[in-house]
Amino acid sequence: MKISDIYSKKKRSLSFEIFPPKKDSELKNIDATLEVLCQLKPDFISVTFGAGGSSNCNRTIELAKKIKYEYQVEPVVHLTCLSYDKAEIDEFSKVLAAEGIQNVLALRGDKNPNIQEKEDFKHASDLMEYLSGKGNFCMAGACYPECHPESENRVSEIRHLKKKVDAGAQVLLSQLFFDNDYFFRFVEDCRIGGINVPIIPGIMPVINAAQIKRMVTMCGASFPMRFQKIIHKFEDNKEALFDAGMSYALSQIIDLLVNDIDGIHLYTMNNPAVAGKICEGIRNII
Ligand code: FAD
Repeated sequence: MKISDIYSKKKRSLSFEIFPPKKDSELKNIDATLEVLCQLKPDFISVTFGAGGSSNCNRTIELAKKIKYEYQVEPVVHLTCLSYDKAEIDEFSKVLAAEGIQNVLALRGDKNPNIQEKEDFKHASDLMEYLSGKGNFCMAGACYPECHPESENRVSEIRHLKKKVDAGAQVLLSQLFFDNDYFFRFVEDCRIGGINVPIIPGIMPVINAAQIKRMVTMCGASFPMRFQKIIHKFEDNKEALFDAGMSYALSQIIDLLVNDIDGIHLYTMNNPAVAGKICEGIRNII
């Protein structure tokens, strides 16, 4: 099923993001993770894509196939383009189509001195335009409620995002954030800018202090004082921080749902306990 159909049929959706294990020895654990995640009946599970190298691509596709055929949940395959040329993207799209994968989160990928960029795709919108002619995929795109770190300003951010939607993005999945006001203002800016596809907030429940420091540095998300105090207070007590992190994420999610957003995309970090706790907290709401 295409995820655009899920959003057009359902009032509120719930989806998860997972990443493929880095080592073959970890592949066994993924079944235990999927077992729990899939019992929670997400509308889809998206699978991240490591930057560069065909083994990354294979792991993503293998995991997406597992989700679809062994667990009967719809997968979304992330696909980055910065380090690939048209012939390589042709190859990926052939494999995806042959495996019955219908949904692709089309991304540029992060710039990284260790990864050689190729000339064919400069932006995610180039990949979307190219993929539009192939495989009949439903394409999702990434969006950034607090602006992408490379963006000049909010206006150019929205203009570039509009290009992405015009190039074929039917759904937008957001970067994580910890202050809902940024998301609400961003959605308003998108609607004013003529972007009318579903915009799904990405929520990451934080369960350890190192994780939050890494996330804030990596993606530039604001770290509200209220949340900083929580982390500071409980950083030496693992169980307390888990409870507090879950409560914070749940309060964000409930506020988003009250404000009629189209769904929630949960960054699970491959942690079924996190996803389970969130689902339990919104069982009668979503
Ligand atoms: P783009 O849409 O190309 O945007 C990148 C920058 O270029 C932005 O500043 C944008 O404003 C600007 N821009 C866009 N179009 C134009 C244009 N036509 N002219 C000038 N400027 C333009 N990375 C991975 O490696 N693997 C993953 O699996 C992965 N999953 C992700 C999932 C989500 C939900 C999100 C939000 C991000 C994910 N990323 C992943 C990270 C992503 O690859 C980076 O954030 C990357 O830096 C930008 O990717 P993009 O697709 O948003 O790029």
